[in-house]
Amino acid sequence: MKPLRDTLRETIALEGPITVERYMSLCLRHYYATRDPLGSAGDFTTAPEISQMFGELIGLWMLEVWNGMGRPACRLIELGPGRGTLMADLLRSTRLLPDFKGSATVHLVETSPALREKQQTALASSGFSFHWHDRIEDVPSGPTLLVANEFFDALPVRQFVGTGRGWCERLVGLEGEHLIFGLRPEPEPVLGRPLKPGDVLEWPGAAIDVMGGIARRLTRDTGAALVLDYGYWGPAFGDTLQALKGHKPVDPLEEPGEADLTTHVDFHRLAQAAVSGNARAHGLSSQGDFLRALGIDTRASALKARATPAQAADIDRALERLTERGPTGMGDLFKVLAVTHDGIDAVPGLPALSPSS
Ligand code: SAH
Repeated sequence: MKPLRDTLRETIALEGPITVERYMSLCLRHYYATRDPLGSAGDFTTAPEISQMFGELIGLWMLEVWNGMGRPACRLIELGPGRGTLMADLLRSTRLLPDFKGSATVHLVETSPALREKQQTALASSGFSFHWHDRIEDVPSGPTLLVANEFFDALPVRQFVGTGRGWCERLVGLEGEHLIFGLRPEPEPVLGRPLKPGDVLEWPGAAIDVMGGIARRLTRDTGAALVLDYGYWGPAFGDTLQALKGHKPVDPLEEPGEADLTTHVDFHRLAQAAVSGNARAHGLSSQGDFLRALGIDTRASALKARATPAQAADIDRALERLTERGPTGMGDLFKVLAVTHDGIDAVPGLPALSPSS
């Protein structure tokens, strides 16, 4: 296959500079289609790859919500299931209510053929029936339980930079053979005036579209969605685009399609998109508070009770990594938002969203 860098150079030479959104979209499609990016040999590690406790607790969350819904036949959907680890752990813990297995059909929304294969292997022995889809719109209707972990951060965003002329869109162009960032000379009038020159405004159009689709689905069919990702409660101004290769930050233009590209998720915009679609938002919580509220400490103790000393030390390390605050832990950096049918007024482990938010 021709390296993506060459295709990008040709495209830009022919059509002129492209938006950051298009650049991210081309890079991410290539990146996920050509590898398994997870784990120590890959570029990044996610919560379900750190410990089985993560998926198990999300399984218990799903069971409780399903029970509250009156145990209907339902669609269990995961967006961007990676290696299938979260789904495998989640399904194992749903054995607690044996009726769930006969009631749920599992739908995996995954664009990468390489990862679909991994998911198939991870889930083959679970006893559930599985369907793969490219887009959430392709999942048949029905009461819905949905989870998305580190999915929204992998969707492309537009970026605008504050200048004396107004907000100008950030573009990727060519200087000789090198990809470089630049700005569209004309400002975007609908965005108004920037407060400070140099501020960066990110517009997560793809994430808003996906959340709008989820909200419409939950409003029509009832159900709940759980979104976990690293991010913040906006509005905020800043460039959060980052590239990771081999667990190290790299220049986002350096190896197009060969490094993971992400941005921080603005949960306020996601909640707004959900509420505009007539759904209800719950949260926001930090991942640490959410997992503690669901009982991760008790689960860790139960696992340790039948573990060797080395395994018990691993469980302690995983618990710390998943819940710890500060720069090395995921407890604070990662946030949790739930979105439900408006008639569901509470979900496990998350506070109600205050109306003033
Ligand atoms: N949820 C997993 C993997 C996160 S990596 C975990 O927690 O381990 C992001 C996942 O989203 C990958 O499976 C990737 O292939 C998938 N993905 C990225 N962009 C996508 C898109 N536009 N549509 C569907 N899946 C996508």
